[in-house]
Amino acid sequence: MKATQNADSSSARTSKWFYQCSGNGAEPTLAGAKCSDCAKIIFPARDMCPACGARHRMSIVPLSRVGKLLGYGISLRSTEYLDAPYAFGYVMLPDGVKVYTLLVDCQPFEMKLRIGSEMEVVTGRVLNPNTGEREPVYMFRPVS
Ligand SMILES: [Zn+2]
Repeated sequence: MKATQNADSSSARTSKWFYQCSGNGAEPTLAGAKCSDCAKIIFPARDMCPACGARHRMSIVPLSRVGKLLGYGISLRSTEYLDAPYAFGYVMLPDGVKVYTLLVDCQPFEMKLRIGSEMEVVTGRVLNPNTGEREPVYMFRPVS
């Protein structure tokens, strides 16, 4: 698979997707943004609140590492950065954030992907065709 999932958390910490973790053994978590006016939490982080329209009121917050699978699809066609078949879908976090994500460590799909089952965030690398670099990205996998 061209996308590789690994435990390269140091590089993940330099990525815009991830919260800056501290402490030994801290697992990377996704970086959301919370509105100080209405408390809405969003991902990915932006500077404007989509709920109340406030600007410059968003602060970066770590999101929950585990959520529930809302739905998924299987692609049977490879792209320049992913080998088929691969799965993608939506994971709902307890923070109220719905994350669109690549799903890994989930084959056979019909056995490991169950709507409503718990999924955890992991880091991986996917080739960016624009830069030729394998860049750290987030992915979710079933909680074993
Ligand atoms: Zn708001």
